[in-house]
Amino acid sequence: METQGEPPIKKSNFIIDLVEADLDSNRYDGRVQTRFPPEPNGFLHVGHAKAICLNSSIANDYSGVFNLRYDDTNPVTESTEFVASIKDDLQWLLGEELKTVPLHTSDYFKQLYLWAEDLIMKGKAYVDDQDVKTISKQRGGFQETGLNSPYRDRGTEENLHLFREMRAGKFYEGECVLRAKIDMGHDNMNMRDPIMYRVKTEEHFRTGKEWNIYPTYDWAHGQSDAIEKVTHSLCSLEFESHRELYNWFLDQLEITGNQRPYQTEFARLNFTYTVLSKRLLKYLVEDKIVDGWDDPRMPTLRGFRKRGYPAVAVRNFCEHIGVAKTNGTHEIELLESFIRNNLNQNAERRMAVLNPLKVTITNWPEGHVDMRQAINNPEDESAGTREIPFTGSLYIEREDFMENPEPKYYRLAPGREVRLRYGYFITCNKIVKDKEGNVTELLCSYDPETSGGKAPDGRKVKATIHWVSAEHALEGSAVLYDRLFSTEHPGAETGEPLDDINPNSKTLRECIKLEPSIGDLTRGSVVQFERLGYFHPDEEIPLLFHRTVGLRDEWANIVKRR
Ligand code: ATP
Ligand code: MG
Repeated sequence: METQGEPPIKKSNFIIDLVEADLDSNRYDGRVQTRFPPEPNGFLHVGHAKAICLNSSIANDYSGVFNLRYDDTNPVTESTEFVASIKDDLQWLLGEELKTVPLHTSDYFKQLYLWAEDLIMKGKAYVDDQDVKTISKQRGGFQETGLNSPYRDRGTEENLHLFREMRAGKFYEGECVLRAKIDMGHDNMNMRDPIMYRVKTEEHFRTGKEWNIYPTYDWAHGQSDAIEKVTHSLCSLEFESHRELYNWFLDQLEITGNQRPYQTEFARLNFTYTVLSKRLLKYLVEDKIVDGWDDPRMPTLRGFRKRGYPAVAVRNFCEHIGVAKTNGTHEIELLESFIRNNLNQNAERRMAVLNPLKVTITNWPEGHVDMRQAINNPEDESAGTREIPFTGSLYIEREDFMENPEPKYYRLAPGREVRLRYGYFITCNKIVKDKEGNVTELLCSYDPETSGGKAPDGRKVKATIHWVSAEHALEGSAVLYDRLFSTEHPGAETGEPLDDINPNSKTLRECIKLEPSIGDLTRGSVVQFERLGYFHPDEEIPLLFHRTVGLRDEWANIVKRR
């Protein structure tokens, strides 16, 4: 059973075993080098976080090198906005500046081009004049062998000439491609003469108009690894069937020995109630289902930041789940539990009322302000204490009062006494209502003898509720978030994840009342509003709070149920 405890003392998984075996056999003369190769066509999400943590920790643990490489081979979808955000998010996640300058596949376009000419000259690549649709049809299927292209046996000189013309911009998009010449009857579909270059006329954000042809992932990836001298090329499972091609290209280029990278696959991270496909995330943003890539409901690192997830908690989570060889789905509650445990240790406590109901204490000495001492963090004595003003005019949470209390409702009700946290016992004596019959105010009395939180005569109360002094309260707003999808596996029933969007995933609470010291909180720090959850102040709008996570550990229940 998976528990939520500390990460294992001695880390071990199949990738670590592999790296250690390579170190033992001196395969790379003791070198370890990894990379994280995102395409700059979107913002990073928590799946990327897993790949980043894995690659960077392997490099760190073995005194190796970890690089960020932008896999910028498609000018149509990529932009500098994504380039900047990826680096920024990556540094946020790792909690430090990158130790190496970011690299770009586009820096290797020349070398990749020269290597492609090499393959042509060896008779291992050819220019195909067919369109991509036809080529795709000719690939056949698992039970069906592919068809050779009518252009497959072009001579070397003609291929070289045409390829140079492709580069020189003599062809339109889709007019021709460069293909590797392998085997159209191969069991592995990726080996059926895969495309290496496509014509694209769009301007590239780094190389401008210099290139009219762009390498495919398969052609660019392994060769970029080799150029950078990556030792362990770790990628997600969907590339498993590409490994044979990865190796084939390196074989043709005679990249061997300690210069040759090896690809190893690991399972992608998936979560319940979550989608992690960039295409879908992009759709949510573009269709304005969410308020942008940094919407706190998004599984993006931007969203996590805005919501107040501590980076170290995300890293600890990634380390805890480790790596697997088969795809699986993690429960989102496990991640939330890492966030909550971290915040429980570190977040200061404050009192805030999200849905205020006025309370007037009728026997309170007029104008008197009693400064009450409160503990900032019961989990961390060094966080100290603060003072909160208590007066005869307070706000409590509307939900903490019921005119006709249900069974087992122990909070405030007519004639009933409760404890105000860090304050006194109060009893509700009278309800004030407006014309429509809505409760607008409670008239209560307090017992001055209960200043220490206890009654000297030993009488008990069944509930302690929070409050804020009305005249001292700051006014702010809070956004409460629920899951973006209402089913565990979005799209499982209809095949369309968007059918399972939760229409009530965001609730804005305005005119919330905050104890005055909330105004002095350090910028950016998450705070626990007592009894309500953890909240992260917005970076731009003062006194706007995003609910990071609630107080209840749902993961504990899941573990118990198992
Ligand atoms: P798409 O969602 O369109 O498949 P992508 O998220 O794979 O795109 P890339 O920019 O290619 O986008 O990803 C960069 C790296 O992150 C890749 O090496 C990929 O294996 C890894 N990665 C992406 N998603 C996950 C995931 N859910 N779990 C683990 N690693 C992931
Ligand atoms: Mg991908």
